[in-house]
Amino acid sequence: RQVTKPITNIIFNFSISTSALTVKSSSTRAAANSGKFISPFTSIAPLKPYLLSEWKPILCGWLCSVLSVYSLSKIIPKVGKFSSLVNPLDVVRLRAECLVLGGLFFVRLVGNYLQQAFLWEAALNCVYKMRICVFHKVLQRDLGFFEGEKGIAAGDVAYRITAEASDVADTVYSLLNTIVPSSLQLSAMAVQMLVINPVLSLLSALVIPLMGFVIGYLGEKLRDVSNKAHLAAASLSSYLNEILPSILFVKANNAESCERKKFQSLAFADLSATMGKKKLKSFIPQLVQDAGKAYNELKQGEPAIQRLFSLKTFEPEEIVNPDAVDLDCVAGEVKYSNVSFRYGDNGPLVLKNTDLHIKSGEIVALCGPSGGGKTTLVKLLLRLYDPLQGSILIDGLDIRGIRIKSLRRNIGLVSQDTTLFSGSVAENIGYRDRMAGIDMERVKLAARNASAEEFIEALPLSYETNVGPRGSIFSGGQKQRIAIARALYQDPSILILDEATSALDSKSELLVRQALQHLMQNRTVLSVNHDVAYGMEIYTNLTYQKGSTKKQMPILVKRVLVIAHRLETVLMAERVFLLEDGN
Ligand code: ADP
Ligand code: MG
Repeated sequence: RQVTKPITNIIFNFSISTSALTVKSSSTRAAANSGKFISPFTSIAPLKPYLLSEWKPILCGWLCSVLSVYSLSKIIPKVGKFSSLVNPLDVVRLRAECLVLGGLFFVRLVGNYLQQAFLWEAALNCVYKMRICVFHKVLQRDLGFFEGEKGIAAGDVAYRITAEASDVADTVYSLLNTIVPSSLQLSAMAVQMLVINPVLSLLSALVIPLMGFVIGYLGEKLRDVSNKAHLAAASLSSYLNEILPSILFVKANNAESCERKKFQSLAFADLSATMGKKKLKSFIPQLVQDAGKAYNELKQGEPAIQRLFSLKTFEPEEIVNPDAVDLDCVAGEVKYSNVSFRYGDNGPLVLKNTDLHIKSGEIVALCGPSGGGKTTLVKLLLRLYDPLQGSILIDGLDIRGIRIKSLRRNIGLVSQDTTLFSGSVAENIGYRDRMAGIDMERVKLAARNASAEEFIEALPLSYETNVGPRGSIFSGGQKQRIAIARALYQDPSILILDEATSALDSKSELLVRQALQHLMQNRTVLSVNHDVAYGMEIYTNLTYQKGSTKKQMPILVKRVLVIAHRLETVLMAERVFLLEDGN
C-alpha cells in the first residue's frame, strides 16, 4: 500500500515477557546490614519526620503518663498508712480517705488508658503516613527494580508494606510508651536512693557501664535474630504470592506435594528464626530493666524500619527534567536511532545499534525470533528503560525530553499477558479513566469494536460484573478482547500490539483479528485521505449503533502504532521489519 500522507497507523506486534519474581533476591538485599552496629539515633532517623508530625498525641500521651505515675506515687504511701487510719470510730475520716484513694485509682486508670490511646494513635498515624509514602515511592521505581535477576519479589514488597509496617508501629508505640515512664521511674528511683544513702547510690552507679554493655550486646544480637525472622517471613510471603496465582499450573503438573514440601521448608525456616527471636526476647527482660527494654524494642524493630524505608530511599524512575515537555497533537512518527541496550550493568547486548523508522500513521509489523529484543524495543519506547546508547524520537522529539506521563498517555499497549484487575468489566476497560470517571458509552463502543460485547452482556451484571482475581472469569481469548477494548477506549496515538493474538483458540483468534482489523481499518481511513482536517472530522464524530438507533459520539483519535506478528496481521502491515539478534 502506498502511504502518501504521514497520518496512517503504525501497527506492531510484540510479546511481553513476564519476568519471574525471585524469592531469594529480597533476602540478599536486606541482609547487607546484619552484624554492623547501628546507633539508635541512626535507626530512629527515618522515623523522625513522622514522629514530629504526630507531636500532639505524643505530648498528650506523655502528659497522661506523668499523671498516671504521679497518682501511683500518691496511692502507694496512702495504702501503707491505711491500716493506721482504720479506726471504726472515725468513720468520717475513713470515708474521706477512701474517697481520695478511689479518686486516685480512677485518675491512675484514666491516665493509663489515655496514655496508651494517645500513643497508639501517634504510632498508627505514623505508620499510615509511612505506608502511603513508601507505596508512592514503589510506584515511582523503575521497571528494573521489579524484574530481572536482582528484581524484588512482589510478595516481599507486600510483606514490608503490610506486616513489617505493623511491626514498626509496635516499635514506635513501645518506644513512646517506655521512654517517658521509664525515665520518670529511673529519676524517681535515683533521687530516693540518693536521699537514703548517697555513698551506696554512687557505688551502685558504677554498675551502669556494665549494664550498658550487656544491653548493647544483647540489642545487637536481637537485631540480628529479628532480621533473620523478617527475611524468613518475607520469603514465605514471596513464595505464596508467586505460587497462589499459578495454582492451575501447580495442579496440572501434579506438583501439590512438591510445593507442599517447599512451603514446609520455608515455614520451618520462619519457625526457627521467629523462635530464636522470641527466646532471646523473653530472656532479655530478666537481665535488663525498663531502660534496656526500650533500647531492645528499638533494636528488634530496626530490621523492619530498615527494610520498609529501603523501599523509599531509591531514586525515582524519572529524574525530573525541568525542560521536559508535554506531547500534544502527536502525529506518531517513531524513530529508533542507533539504539543499543543491555539489561543490568554487565548483561549481554540485547539491542545493537538498532535503527527503525516508522512513519506517522504507518502500519508496521515487527517480526523476529523469540528473545530477539522486540519487547525490549517497546519497553524503551515507553521509557521503562533508557537506551545505553542512541536515541528514540517521537515526532522528531527525543523521548527523554518528554514528560513520562505525557509520553505514556499517547502509547497504548496490548500485550501477550493480558493484565486484568479485580473490579468490574467497565473499570477494566476504562482503566485509564478510573480516577476521572469512566465514560460508559465509550466503554460499550470499545467493547463492541473489540467483539467483546456479546460475552460481556451475557454476564450476570453485564459491565458491572466483577472479573475476579486477574480476570479469572474470562477465557484467554476473552481477556485479550477486553484488553483490545481497553486500547480502543484509550484511543492512543501510538498503539502497540505485543503478540496480542498469540495465545488464542481459533474462534477467539478470528474474533480478535476482526477486532484488530476494525481498529486498524478505522485508522487506515485517516491515512488514505491525505487530509488531516477530514480525518479529524471522522474521528471526532464516530457513528455507532445503539439498539435500533444510530448514534454519534466524539472520540479523540490521533495516531496508532500497532505491532503485528501473526501472518494475517503482518499482511495488513505496510512494512515488515525483522529484528534478529539485536539488529
Ligand atoms: P522478544 O520480545 O523479541 O522475544 P525480549 O525483548 O523480551 O525478546 O528479550 C530480549 C532478550 O533480553 C532476551 O534474551 C531476554 O532473555 C532478555 N531479557 C528480557 N527481559 C529481561 C530482564 N528484565 N532482565 C534481563 N534480561 C532480560
Ligand atoms: Mg516479546
